[in-house]
Amino acid sequence: MSPSPTRVLVLNSGSSSVKYQLLDMRDSSRLAVGLVERIGEQTSRLRHTCLDSGDTREALGPIADHEAALKAVAEELTRDGLGLDSPELAAIGHRVVHGGMFFTEPTVIDDAVLAEIERLIPVAPLHNPANLTGIRTAQALRPDLPQVAVFDTAFHTTMPESAARYAIDPKFADRYRIRRYGFHGTSHAYVSRATARLLGRTPEEVNVIVLHLGNGASASAVRGGRCVDTSMGLTPLEGLVMGTRSGDLDPAVIFHLARVGGMSMDEIDTLLNKRSGLFGLCGDNDMREIRRRIDEGDEAARLAFDIYIHRLKKYIGAYCAVLGRVDAVAFTAGVGENAAPVREAAVAGLEGLGLAVDPELNAVRADEPRLISPAGTRVAVAVVPTDEELEIATQTYALVGTGSAPVGNNS
Ligand code: ADP
Repeated sequence: MSPSPTRVLVLNSGSSSVKYQLLDMRDSSRLAVGLVERIGEQTSRLRHTCLDSGDTREALGPIADHEAALKAVAEELTRDGLGLDSPELAAIGHRVVHGGMFFTEPTVIDDAVLAEIERLIPVAPLHNPANLTGIRTAQALRPDLPQVAVFDTAFHTTMPESAARYAIDPKFADRYRIRRYGFHGTSHAYVSRATARLLGRTPEEVNVIVLHLGNGASASAVRGGRCVDTSMGLTPLEGLVMGTRSGDLDPAVIFHLARVGGMSMDEIDTLLNKRSGLFGLCGDNDMREIRRRIDEGDEAARLAFDIYIHRLKKYIGAYCAVLGRVDAVAFTAGVGENAAPVREAAVAGLEGLGLAVDPELNAVRADEPRLISPAGTRVAVAVVPTDEELEIATQTYALVGTGSAPVGNNS
């Protein structure tokens, strides 16, 4: 009898990109990683790295669509002896952004699942179509292989109605499926569990505030391993100040821009999602550049940073209140993992809530989860690198593996 397959290919299909990783779930190691960018343009780029040989290959030139992109990825994998036809491949795990209220768990994809992801397009018009294209293309390449959808929203489906509902007439809310779904759930799940492990506790024993600060950013309150509140809502626009999204604002700003500013709904949508946040405030959405400008005395960059921090602080305070008892605050994603000044400023002045950062520990750069609070503080403050691909692979393998499947080192 041939041994059970142990490899999982993780696909994250965006509107014009596909990110992928091939993992071996016996030890959660990466075999290959890569990215196809600018799909549909003349200047598409595929960058592929085989971890075993350390080889990185880059191909430039037009890649017309997701089908062509996935075929190119499959060819690169084949060149490294890791092709999609390999009997060692157990499944393909797909990141799917919006799973609505229906998908609370990772799910093996069949026609009914595809139809439901499609039905959710009106609440995720940018993401779900790209995710669907990725799934359909992968199915065409390996029709016999289990394909699993891992939803960004799933971790947040445990939110109580009091946190998930907006204060609007349920007739409208229910008809148009308006509620707070939350996103980045795979990251919040992974980081909240990894934080518990860092504290030497089980997820059930701890209450954690997770701050996922990337280009998109969201906070969540996790009680005993279950999400009880999160900052993103019906769409990823709500909540924290982000790279290009405004986050929270008075909804009447939209009426005002339409009635007084004469802007169309599409123009307002673009303004708030693509031209706001740090970028809208100061013209840069990269925290490194903003810090550099602040060091040079740039006022616009300073104000953008201060608004970003003010909002972050409000959410930390709010989630302390939501949780009652907080054991840890965990910073993650590009900004959270790398920007010591953001961590320092977000926690400054919160000693009354039991929160503090040790400047020396905060300045350490490392890839490992680590504590940055001084010994003896009531609430641990931690930096916990996220790994959404590993989490997707782990959840996928747990679903389709042999039953004796190792659940990776992140459960
Ligand atoms: P996403 O997955 O949302 O695109 P990431 O989690 O990769 O984003 O975060 C990207 C952001 O992280 C960048 O826009 C930048 O602001 C920030 N970032 C990355 N590296 C650093 C660094 N060394 N110092 C400060 N900020 C950083």
